[in-house]
Amino acid sequence: MIREETVFGPIFSRRLGSSLGINLLPERGKICNFDCIYCECGWNRDGRDDTVLPTAAKVRGDLERKLRSLAAVGTPVDSITFSGDGEPTLNPEFPQIIDDTLRLRDEFYPKAKVSVLSNATRVHLESIFNALCRVDNPIMKIDAPSNELAERINQPAQGYDVDRVVEALKAFGGDFVLQTCMLRYDGFDSSSSEVIGGMLDIVRLLHPREWMVYTIDRPTPMRGLGKFSPEEMRALVQPLIDEGFCIQIKG
Ligand code: SF4
Repeated sequence: MIREETVFGPIFSRRLGSSLGINLLPERGKICNFDCIYCECGWNRDGRDDTVLPTAAKVRGDLERKLRSLAAVGTPVDSITFSGDGEPTLNPEFPQIIDDTLRLRDEFYPKAKVSVLSNATRVHLESIFNALCRVDNPIMKIDAPSNELAERINQPAQGYDVDRVVEALKAFGGDFVLQTCMLRYDGFDSSSSEVIGGMLDIVRLLHPREWMVYTIDRPTPMRGLGKFSPEEMRALVQPLIDEGFCIQIKG
């Protein structure tokens, strides 16, 4: 599902309440340095006719118009989430866009939380890291604890190194949310000792303020992916629950 607007919603969910989304990628195509086999936006190779990234000025204008019109009729906005068709930090004006968004949030809906969903591949860059530190919820994805395992499900662009990502995430000092998709496909199994054992070690090392564990929910570009029940996921992360970690399981 490709979002065809830069600012979309609000969408109502039990977890986020009334949530606006911001897509920093093209309106008719996905751009990501991963190509996850479960990505709800489809493959990178699809929809490549549009490669125009929205500028900071466009995002600022669209968001201001949307917030102004929602505020005028009293529609609540509880969260503003960067969750578009690809990796938001690839937009070259990402830091500026974050600052503009926080300013507009403060002006129209000061209680709304700003979140960024990212695959964490660019956290090692100072300007990206600093921008992520300014939002309420930097939500960083790691699905697999080794490069070889990530290759099977995330299909990252050349140069991905999970150890480098983990090293970079340490700079948050635990003040971030880690997100992990659990799935089964062609020899990859999030419940295998290789995967879950490695993931538990990463969580212990990074100590995020929350670990968000979820599974396949929508149609996926690769067919035949296996999902997990909430009970299965809970059993897999139980050792960390027992150790006092904050874990959210989304079935
Ligand atoms: S990181 Fe996110 S946007 Fe990129 S391919 Fe994976 S699921 Fe899709």
